[in-house]
Amino acid sequence: MNEDTPDATVHDVVIVGSGVAGLSAAVYAARADLEPVVLEGPEPGGQLTLTTDVENFLGFPEGIGGMELIQNGKAQAQRFGAEFVHGTVEDAALEERPFALELSNGETLRTQALIVATGASARWVGAENEDELMGYGLSTCATCDGAFHRGDDVLVIGGGDSAMEEALFLAKFADSVTIVHRRDELRASDIMARRAREHDQIEFRWNTELLEIHGSQEEGVTGATLVSHPDGLPKDRLADGEDVEYEDVDVGGIFYGVGHVPNTAFLEDTAVDLDDEGHLLTLEGMTTETAAEGVFGAGDVMDPDYRQAITAAGTGSMAALDAESWLEEQALESNAEAAVVAEADD
Ligand code: NAP
Repeated sequence: MNEDTPDATVHDVVIVGSGVAGLSAAVYAARADLEPVVLEGPEPGGQLTLTTDVENFLGFPEGIGGMELIQNGKAQAQRFGAEFVHGTVEDAALEERPFALELSNGETLRTQALIVATGASARWVGAENEDELMGYGLSTCATCDGAFHRGDDVLVIGGGDSAMEEALFLAKFADSVTIVHRRDELRASDIMARRAREHDQIEFRWNTELLEIHGSQEEGVTGATLVSHPDGLPKDRLADGEDVEYEDVDVGGIFYGVGHVPNTAFLEDTAVDLDDEGHLLTLEGMTTETAAEGVFGAGDVMDPDYRQAITAAGTGSMAALDAESWLEEQALESNAEAAVVAEADD
């Protein structure tokens, strides 16, 4: 680390994001004596902190709580010297090195290498009133808000593993849980789908979407308008002017489980390439390098396909190893340049 004045500190590696990918990168970078700084953003610990049991992370035959896994990972990274700071990157100047990251608190972090592990945030479905009622009976996190719905009838929107997991968790508190899915085939894994299908309190509404949420911030969610079409994707059919069926239902809570969008807004005007959905694109082959030299990607922010805790941990470790090699190459190059200059001076 090169320290001239406190403001001009240039770190070797800054890792943006403190989910499983960022933590894994931090453990590797810290063990390589790179003294990484880990930026904890608006969702510290990432998606795993909102999960109940993680059953498929290698090495935990009985499963492990998502929060516990993250807390252990942070302690492990700190043990090797990783520093954690709070902040969200508002703007990233990546044209020249050291890179400058402008944070929401007005501070600027400077770094030679950058690992982007910002993950992805819950997607919203675009139903009427969702802006007003998010946090007032509408939620994207059953483990956070499920206990407020003891004795309620609730809806879960989505057909993937997240929706199944939310429904299974909510069934501990709610009187009934209805999974509303826009098609008649689940995207969820067989094991999660079977658990939901076999649960007495969980029902399914197929070929149905959420159109409007009823209620107010004072009363909370009181109901919803659903729209159905026998062939599925009813909102598309509504737009095409096809006949659809509407139904108003009384419910005390609605949970979104419709996937996630990558957190890459701060990279939009940089040399880092993004795909149409905003995922950070890495170079071809097995690497975490991006089109911006010195910037590496890890975890869900660069992974539209696997999106598992274990794969995020894997790419996190790869990003730290790639950053370490790249920093070594830079040091060798600048030593060689310095030697040429010294020779010319002699
Ligand atoms: P996902 O697999 O992408 O599923 C999203 C679901 O939401 C799909 O069924 C999709 O419908 C639906 N959807 C998307 N946008 C919608 C909209 N605007 N309106 C209505 N429905 C919409 O996302 P995920 O369930 O969050 O899972 C992501 C990854 O994490 C997966 O790899 C999954 O296996 C993993 N995961 C695993 C676990 C576990 O093993 N315990 C738990 C959670 C997540 P369509 O099917 O029609 O596209």
